[in-house]
Amino acid sequence: MPRSPRPSAPATLRTWPRWATAEVDYETTLAIFTNVQHFASIHYVIQEDGHITQMVRTQDVAWHAGNWTFNGSSIGIELIGVAEDPSHYTDAQYRATGTLIRYLTDRYDIPRDRDHILAHEDLPGVNAARQAAMHWDPGAYYDYEKLLRHAGADDRNGPLRERDETVTIAPSYKSNELGFTSCNPGGGVLAPRSTAAVMVRTEPSDDAPFLEDPALAAVGAEDVVDV
Ligand SMILES: [Zn+2]
Repeated sequence: MPRSPRPSAPATLRTWPRWATAEVDYETTLAIFTNVQHFASIHYVIQEDGHITQMVRTQDVAWHAGNWTFNGSSIGIELIGVAEDPSHYTDAQYRATGTLIRYLTDRYDIPRDRDHILAHEDLPGVNAARQAAMHWDPGAYYDYEKLLRHAGADDRNGPLRERDETVTIAPSYKSNELGFTSCNPGGGVLAPRSTAAVMVRTEPSDDAPFLEDPALAAVGAEDVVDV
């Protein structure tokens, strides 16, 4: 499978564990990552029952982020699951993912916080034209609070956190329910479910237009990106 030697020793790396969702079953995921023609690889795959498979040594770079800067400085974790149906993200999988992140952050001395434990959807494209091709997994219904709890995170992000000039709004996962439009053709509007996401409107009014993503609008894409 595709892999490249890291430019420096892993003990000195700043690494960002990152997770993604597969949307295909375990066997298909392994087949994709072991076929060089897919130009993709991942360090770890975690199944719904919590079983962890390592596919690339952490001292090697895997081709997983869609952004070479992040490939070179991160460890990739793929979750078997379905971004639009959070029932696939089982407690066993949250536990196993958290335990693995706890181990990796200990081993490579990485801060256990949301700035270093990134989702695929957090990673930017290398330029504005590439942004629409970036992924949106593990999806709006993924419970980050639960993952960070299992990972023993130092910083779980309070409801409203201000640091430097960045403000993070992190609503309660359980009480914040939203129904998003499916990214699958004909998928319609999904049933409201618990989410850590917030809808951002252009004005403080329920019927104000949503804020548009300039990177997506720039290439004429709809407000969706691939998983
Ligand atoms: Zn992804």
